[in-house]
Amino acid sequence: MVQINVSQQLRESIGAVRNYRVSEVVDIVGGGSLVQGEVGLMRSDRSILAKGTLHTEVELTCSRCLSLFSCPLSINIEEEYLPTTDVVTGARLPLPDEAGCFTIDEHNILDLTEAIRQYALLAIPMKPLCDDDCAGLCPTCGCNLNQASCNCLPEPADPRWSELGKLVLADNQASGNEPKGTKLDR
Ligand SMILES: [Zn+2]
Ligand SMILES: [Zn+2]
Repeated sequence: MVQINVSQQLRESIGAVRNYRVSEVVDIVGGGSLVQGEVGLMRSDRSILAKGTLHTEVELTCSRCLSLFSCPLSINIEEEYLPTTDVVTGARLPLPDEAGCFTIDEHNILDLTEAIRQYALLAIPMKPLCDDDCAGLCPTCGCNLNQASCNCLPEPADPRWSELGKLVLADNQASGNEPKGTKLDR
């Protein structure tokens, strides 16, 4: 849990900045990841703004060779945390109608854990690769070509696709540049 007590900072004037070093284990994709870096907290007129860059590594499955690998992530956080309690009077504060905004709890604890988790998930590549040059799996025998080579011949092109290729070609030649079709009047 990355929790910071901001009761002092909430009493400070607008623009006051405090920097915190983060070094905590956060559950990002199941299993803990050590998250490290620095986060700056700034007092704004209505909130505390958190901004910083953190680094971690998560275990992912390579989209090409399907092996597990450790993927480094940079997490750039920029979030606003709204207080739920007036730090001086202790009165509860009304929350603005903003979906999904982060809050500071009634003990003046600002918890970065959920923001770190969400930003880390966004930083995970859509098609993770264990290496930019990952050779992948042999489509015929399934052998991991990063670890061994096999004796399979290069796969012949799927005949269904080559038929489709001919169709597209013939269609283009028949119709010229403009695709011909019935347009529906709406
Ligand atoms: Zn791979
Ligand atoms: Zn093979």
